[in-house]
Amino acid sequence: MSDFVIPAPLQASVAVAGTDARFPVRRIFCVGRNYAEHAREMGNDPDREPPFFFTKPADALVAATATIPYPPATENLHFEAELVVAIGKGGKAIDEGAALGHVWGYAAGNDLTRRDLQAEAKSLRRPWDMAKGFDLSAVCGELVAVSSAGHPPASATITCTVNGETRQSATLGDMIWPVPAIIAYLSRLVELQPGDLIYTGTPAGVGAIKAGDVCRVSIDGLGAVTTTIA
Ligand code: MN
Repeated sequence: MSDFVIPAPLQASVAVAGTDARFPVRRIFCVGRNYAEHAREMGNDPDREPPFFFTKPADALVAATATIPYPPATENLHFEAELVVAIGKGGKAIDEGAALGHVWGYAAGNDLTRRDLQAEAKSLRRPWDMAKGFDLSAVCGELVAVSSAGHPPASATITCTVNGETRQSATLGDMIWPVPAIIAYLSRLVELQPGDLIYTGTPAGVGAIKAGDVCRVSIDGLGAVTTTIA
């Protein structure tokens, strides 16, 4: 094996609930507009689109309980409560019926978004990378293994509070494209690999958070992530 000319980057990873072991993260994919009411609140028609995807770098991950600085280059930082899917077995062109067999576990997450930069990117037909993939933008809770807890039911509630006040509340069954369909679509665009995470979209009710706010995302059976903005 050859030497690297600079120190190799650290392997990004997320904690696994109930153990000291960690899940190594390869890539982070995110689904846009996967809850109808959220698509409408952003000015889109939820009935007309197949799922689409964007990405965040793996080293944008933020742990389950963290205080982060208010990010640079924005005056409109938004929370987005999301179910995070961790891929344990890779594959391409995965059939919906086999998709859940590729999932290692799940977590509660928060797809932090510089909404003003996203609006600018949309209006100028530019990419979303700097709106979505900035440092510390991918909040991910402890992963709960499918082997211990199974798959979360459609009735599971996903909730986001800011300073204790409920801002988002839906069930996972409200997703336009459920997890098997997301995996089927995404694996026809790229070959999924072990270590990939998929953020599955956010319900209606997104809004701004500012310095001093405490944003908490919880999903039945998967615990919570609590992010404090310094
Ligand atoms: Mn999102």
